[in-house]
Amino acid sequence: MINLILLGLPGAGKGTASESIVDKYHLAHISTGDMFREAMANETPVGLEAKSYIDKGNLVPDEVTAKLVEERLKQPDTKNGFILDGFPRTTVQAELLEDITKRLDKPLTKVIAIDVDEDVLIKRLSARYICKNCGATYNKISNPTKVEGTCDRCGGHEFFQREDDKPEVVKNRLEVNKKMNTPLRDFYEEKGILSTVNGEQTPEKVFEDIDKILSKD
Ligand code: ADP
Ligand code: AMP
Repeated sequence: MINLILLGLPGAGKGTASESIVDKYHLAHISTGDMFREAMANETPVGLEAKSYIDKGNLVPDEVTAKLVEERLKQPDTKNGFILDGFPRTTVQAELLEDITKRLDKPLTKVIAIDVDEDVLIKRLSARYICKNCGATYNKISNPTKVEGTCDRCGGHEFFQREDDKPEVVKNRLEVNKKMNTPLRDFYEEKGILSTVNGEQTPEKVFEDIDKILSKD
């Protein structure tokens, strides 16, 4: 059983690595960012509340986010394991997650931090684009589709750039997330379940390193 957290600043490659992890290990991929974007698109109460924070690159309040994750972890597709991508992002969320995993009897097994330098992140985020149909993530510079204008995964032809990947918002997002980066790592380091991978390698090599960690014991 793998119950995994992927830690890393925006643009570190959590979503990209998740695609490969899901292909091999068939875990439920739980991205709080994706869940909020879906809630915003559907104009649900959570989506409307989250929008004011997300548009500015700030964090949605801890309690709101933790509740969303708890509901998601109750879904049956998490029974063979899950990846948390983008949660927790604060030590308060990490504490709330401790309670959630206890309540649901789904203990965390691994935490992997993907390390990437800030100047690389800024470049990556401004070049990120996403398939409208299946959500697969690409990059104009480092990771384009194999055939221009066609999604490798689903064959779709429509793509979009995230509103919060525009330069005005990216700067604040990185600042907000950076503050919590070290305390979060320390939290899981102390529990003895933290591993680190170098995220400034090709996506294939990043996955290879993650795979080595996941296939141990
Ligand atoms: P996160 O989910 O951590 O925010 P993404 O997986 O969306 O990050 O990746 C951010 C951007 O960087 C995307 O455009 C993606 O295609 C690209 N990317 C992801 N991993 C790598 C990598 N190892 N090397 C270069 N570019 C990458
Ligand atoms: P992401 O797709 O992970 O980059 O998340 C996009 C945005 O959603 C973030 O900038 C936050 O505003 C919000 N968000 C996602 N996950 C969380 C979280 N764990 N806590 C608070 N806000 C979050």
